[in-house]
Amino acid sequence: MKRLTAVVPCFNEEEVLPMFYEEIMRVAESLQNEVEFEVLFVNDGSTDGTLQVIRKLRERDKRVKLVSFSRNFGKEAAMYAGLEHSSGDFVAILDADLQHPPKMLIEMYHGIVLEGYDSVAAKRVTRDGEPKIRSFFSRKFYDILCKLSKIEIVEGSVDYRLMTRQMVKAVLSMSERNRFTKGIFGWVGFHTKWIAYENVERAAGQTKWSFWKLFKYSLEGIIGFSTAPLAMSSILGLAFCGFSVLAIIYIVIKTIIWGDPTSGWPSLACIILMVSGIQLFCMGILGQYMGKTYIEVKNRPIYLASIVETEEEQEESETLLASDLEASKSEKGYKEK
Ligand code: UDP
Ligand code: MG
Repeated sequence: MKRLTAVVPCFNEEEVLPMFYEEIMRVAESLQNEVEFEVLFVNDGSTDGTLQVIRKLRERDKRVKLVSFSRNFGKEAAMYAGLEHSSGDFVAILDADLQHPPKMLIEMYHGIVLEGYDSVAAKRVTRDGEPKIRSFFSRKFYDILCKLSKIEIVEGSVDYRLMTRQMVKAVLSMSERNRFTKGIFGWVGFHTKWIAYENVERAAGQTKWSFWKLFKYSLEGIIGFSTAPLAMSSILGLAFCGFSVLAIIYIVIKTIIWGDPTSGWPSLACIILMVSGIQLFCMGILGQYMGKTYIEVKNRPIYLASIVETEEEQEESETLLASDLEASKSEKGYKEK
């Protein structure tokens, strides 16, 4: 029987975990004839009793698995660790606070096995219960990010989705340190079905995201998926240079015709414009090289194939990364296990 791993990042969630466990196990029961369930809690350095709660659940129920961090590394790290330690043929990521309704997993699972999608993701259609100002900035952020980067990020998408092992492997192959998972999901591609749902308020406990933390996270998204800001200084520099050339022509003509009553300043202004323009432009050139180096350093796969049929007999489709053809062959051993 195939297995489904639900990855759940937890940071100080002791209050809500028992409720979450009840809910997700109800889902496990309704899918028990179709798929074997596993719930992998990633304790992200909680300072309350989260770890003890998970341990207790684990004593009772062997389907509960645990990875616990040595300190708080953030939700991105927790999601990565969860994907890395998951063993399921299908892997879901969802929040512990019941804002991502576990019962949607049933529909998601059917989207993959019956409709043939590689991944099924959730998007919020309403943001009720969230501060207005937060919704406003959040929408603006997605507008800007979509314009600056070439990847598509669906409005209202949340980090709640079910994926095939193939897609999990693709996400894990993006080994960058500064992670922005929503962008990564967009980058890796694959056929994704979107299911809309109404925003739900947190079942218990408190949000871990302050406005400032969200702001920094949004910069992560823009910097991680776009080098457009680096190009800005070259554009500004060119504009300055162009402007100073026009100004020089104007001042020279003016001086020839009418003389130079306040001697010195027109030429000074031109020199300043010209030199700062050249400087900005050179910085822009540096920025271009830095941008390219930045992309190289990320070491993302050059391509991701979802189907490869090069043998006589058709192989089962595999994600082949340019860099690890061999590794993906041995991965087949995993599937047969
Ligand atoms: N989370 C985490 N590490 C952190 C912050 C949050 O693992 O440093 C987890 C948290 O336990 C929850 C999920 O990420 O399961 C979403 O966090 P939260 O509900 O606080 O965010 P919000 O829903 O308010 O955006
Ligand atoms: Mg939440």
